[in-house]
Amino acid sequence: MATDDDRLREYRGKRDFGRTREPSGREAGAVAGPRFVVQIHDARRMHFDFRLQVGDVLRSWSVPKGPSDDPHDKRLAVPTEDHPLEYEDFEGVIPRGEYGGGTVIVWDRGTYEPLSHDRRGRPVDFAESLERGHATFRLHGSKLRGEYALTRFRGDGERGEENAWLLVKKAEGHAAAHGTPDPRRARSVTTGRTLAQVAADDGR
Ligand code: MN
Repeated sequence: MATDDDRLREYRGKRDFGRTREPSGREAGAVAGPRFVVQIHDARRMHFDFRLQVGDVLRSWSVPKGPSDDPHDKRLAVPTEDHPLEYEDFEGVIPRGEYGGGTVIVWDRGTYEPLSHDRRGRPVDFAESLERGHATFRLHGSKLRGEYALTRFRGDGERGEENAWLLVKKAEGHAAAHGTPDPRRARSVTTGRTLAQVAADDGR
């Protein structure tokens, strides 16, 4: 059976999605599952927000340097408050003086497969694996693809600055790693815009 990728090969072959704002058709993906989104947030300090749908909320981590597809990069991820599912669509300007004031773009999004298992290799509930402080999952995004792990190395599970996790890509095959692009040059996966363009469009 033809996959979505096969059916859209011609459409995608004609387009450079770094230049056109047309959809790449990779959003929903062939793999169903809970959603993930990575937003770039030009707030007081530039950071990436990494969010995984768990039940009816987006569990969230602030990742100062952003997720990397290089397995050698161990990226600090500080837990933040749960966000509503609709937040995956949010791109625009949060007014100055408001919480998180600054510009947000949707850098990547898609679905993920929970992969968490116990020491004997048996699958465990994903939410429970997060409570225990170690969760593994496979991302199916437009930019981020493959297996990642979130591991708590400091704190007791409550949210806040005293809690710290690492977000790390698992080494797989010989896929070329790109690290993380410069957040000021990165483009929205949904609209193709940079932070500066969103600020100009929405900030007036
Ligand atoms: Mn943020």
